Amino acid sequence: MNLARPLPSYLVQRFHGWRATTWQDNKAWYRKLATGGQHPRAMVISCCDSRVHVTSIFGADEGEFFIHRNIANLVPPYQADGEPHGTSAAVEYAVTALKVAHVVVLGHANCGGVKGCHDMCSGHAPALEEKSSFVGRWMDILRPGYERVVQLPAPDQLSALEKEAVLVSLENLMTFPFVRAAVESEELTLHGLWTSTGEGTLEQYDPERGGFHPV
Ligand SMILES: [Zn+2]
Repeated sequence: MNLARPLPSYLVQRFHGWRATTWQDNKAWYRKLATGGQHPRAMVISCCDSRVHVTSIFGADEGEFFIHRNIANLVPPYQADGEPHGTSAAVEYAVTALKVAHVVVLGHANCGGVKGCHDMCSGHAPALEEKSSFVGRWMDILRPGYERVVQLPAPDQLSALEKEAVLVSLENLMTFPFVRAAVESEELTLHGLWTSTGEGTLEQYDPERGGFHPV
């Protein structure tokens, strides 16, 4: 292992810049935040994609959002099988320990994970079908979504599948007994969003009107 190698210099410089400015100017607040525990308003589940900047688009400060990121912002179905499940652990902690009032699933345009799922399900990505593909097996979560978009005109399928990634996740969230219980007792609300960085837009899923609409 090469863990002893120095950090890239840009990371070192940016850290010292942050410490000398943002941290220095707000020291008392940071210390209060450290000792007071976290009380985030909401959990956000977003893609790992470096262009999806949750804290930037919502103007969030430290301590405000409990953020979980994974490929294509997916929540798997509830599966209490004794195996390690990172996303399910984050959902459990947010809902049962932190008791967040909102869980937001944030999908996005030009999602590489969703594109991979589309390629795999349409037979164009045999490598993703391999048992050894972590991305492929993770994207299996979205297969039910592919079935729902495959009849659409080809140019519309990818963004529809990005939105299906949000809807499948919302459906799967409701299979977690503690999520369902919190939603039914109105302590928790689930929200589905989709953002386009290029267009600077944010759309919200509206179950009554159907589909996603600009916020
Ligand atoms: Zn993505």
